[in-house]
Amino acid sequence: MTGGSIFLAKLGGRLALGFAMLVLALSAASAQAETLRVDRQLCYAQSAVSVPDNSVAALRFSCTGTPTDYHDATLWLRTDPARLPIARSDLALMVHQSRFDRLAVAFAYADGVVRWDEVRQGDYGSHWRAGGQIVFEAPERNVPLAGVTMRFDRLASLGLLRARLIPKTDAVVQSTGMAVAVGAALTLLLVSAIYSLSLAVAVRRQYLAWQAGWSAVMLLWGAVWSQAHLGLFPGLAGTVSAQIGTFLACSAIAIATASAVLAVEPGLVSRRLRAAALLLGTLLGLVGVPLALIRSESLPQWADMLALVILADLLAVAAYLGLAWRRGSVEARDFLAAWCLPMAVLAFVHVVDVDDGLWGGGSKIMVLLAATWQALWLSASATRRLALLRVERDRARASEAFAQQLARRDPLTGLLNRRGFVESVTPLLDRAHADDLAAALLVVDIDRFKSINDVHGHDIGDAVLCEVARRIERWEGPMCTVARLGGEEFGLLTVGMEGLVLARFAESVRRGIAACDHRAVIGEGTVTASVGVAEVRPASDFQQLYRLADEALYDAKRAGRDRVVVQRHFTDAAGAAGDSEAAALSN
Ligand code: GH3
Ligand code: MG
Ligand code: MG
Repeated sequence: MTGGSIFLAKLGGRLALGFAMLVLALSAASAQAETLRVDRQLCYAQSAVSVPDNSVAALRFSCTGTPTDYHDATLWLRTDPARLPIARSDLALMVHQSRFDRLAVAFAYADGVVRWDEVRQGDYGSHWRAGGQIVFEAPERNVPLAGVTMRFDRLASLGLLRARLIPKTDAVVQSTGMAVAVGAALTLLLVSAIYSLSLAVAVRRQYLAWQAGWSAVMLLWGAVWSQAHLGLFPGLAGTVSAQIGTFLACSAIAIATASAVLAVEPGLVSRRLRAAALLLGTLLGLVGVPLALIRSESLPQWADMLALVILADLLAVAAYLGLAWRRGSVEARDFLAAWCLPMAVLAFVHVVDVDDGLWGGGSKIMVLLAATWQALWLSASATRRLALLRVERDRARASEAFAQQLARRDPLTGLLNRRGFVESVTPLLDRAHADDLAAALLVVDIDRFKSINDVHGHDIGDAVLCEVARRIERWEGPMCTVARLGGEEFGLLTVGMEGLVLARFAESVRRGIAACDHRAVIGEGTVTASVGVAEVRPASDFQQLYRLADEALYDAKRAGRDRVVVQRHFTDAAGAAGDSEAAALSN
């Protein structure tokens, strides 16, 4: 395990622990709630939808068995006072189910007074709360409550109905807590969606776009499930929202599957497993459409079947990522780390019924929080991977630049070599040519250098070259570029210097080299150099300068060495070659 993955594992463990503590805190807080169960604390009656609310007294309630055939009729559910002692009047009823046409609630008091309140599809008034709940508060009276009755018109599924009676103050605390948890999760999902999308655009990775899509769909699902969207679209209250929620949940799993599978290179794991995972994901996405439209009692059975397909999909994705990880895919490792918590949560909510717990948020709030954790994890790990890539790229660039730098330098003296010299002076010469300025190249060749090698050895010859190079380096500056052109030959290029000034400069170079102190290596005796100078106006290219300077150098050698010879070449404004001459300066 690398240091990075140990860190990730520790961080993952800590986050999972934090998540578990949050879940525990939420479940502990919901311990005071009284869950209403049809088979234990509720009695039921059925009637036609057209029956008015006040006919409740005339209905015959049954306190045993379970109602059937209610989804196209009206189902009345009444707390059985004998089984559920309700002496307080400060109670609130929280209902977690939204597939019905209308829900009316009657609070009956000990003195015979009955107070009604209602919500309808498309109009939950002020009764909706973040966390997918509908709250009815018992009106304040000094008389104790005798019972609570719920009237559902065209309820889709009693199996999915959850209702709780809790003290009003607890209802406020729970609704606020749930709103904070949902708000935080939705904000983080939004940030993660925007972030993943901008990453996908910046680095052109397809799976990051799927990841952004997944965060966005989970954001929508979370907003719809928690009813937070009713703040903007109150008309969506009820069945339409539940249907949109079902469709979004299926799409989210399909998109999550695509993002996980597509993050791994195609050839790494068997194509069959890849195709199977993608197929299951697509199937889940497609199943979402009919499932969203179902409004019958069979909904829980369909949901159970869907859970099986989800499980198969998760197993396929886990197997695919596991194999890819073993074969070295970093993306697969990060995805597995991100998926383990949501998978554990899904498994947990299937084994343990938490729907009444967690302040009534039940399994949904766990899934939302786990999805948020997953989205943040994926964003963070993608950023980390890309940052590592960037560091590697910067390192590669730096070593490439270093290699280029080396290729331009002479290893013995550290001066520019011929290649580096030509690269450096070419833009200077171009500019000087454009500005009609003179340029000069001084080629310095050490006199009878071969004999130094012959007498003292090659190493001493090298030491002499280095000493001369150190002297020549002192002329390097904004006006002058220096280099070792090869062997015992050095070059100095100046721009803007001409005539007498240039001749004096060349002479000072010759003298400077002759004045070098080589006593430490060759004892007494001087090392001289001949200097061939090409003076051209306007500046020409390096080749022409070098040819002229070489001619001048040849003349200097022939004339006895240890001297400067200047070759001048001027062109007039019309481009005609003007005066070309050689001027020798004796030592
Ligand atoms: P001249 O005055 O005509 O320039 O005579 P010279 O001996 O300097 O010229 P020649 O071209 O005959 O000899 C140059 C010598 O420089 C030959 C070669 O062995 C020596 N040389 C070239 N590169 C190096 C080097 O890197 N180190 C050493 N020690 N010698 C070198
Ligand atoms: Mg030479
Ligand atoms: Mg020489």
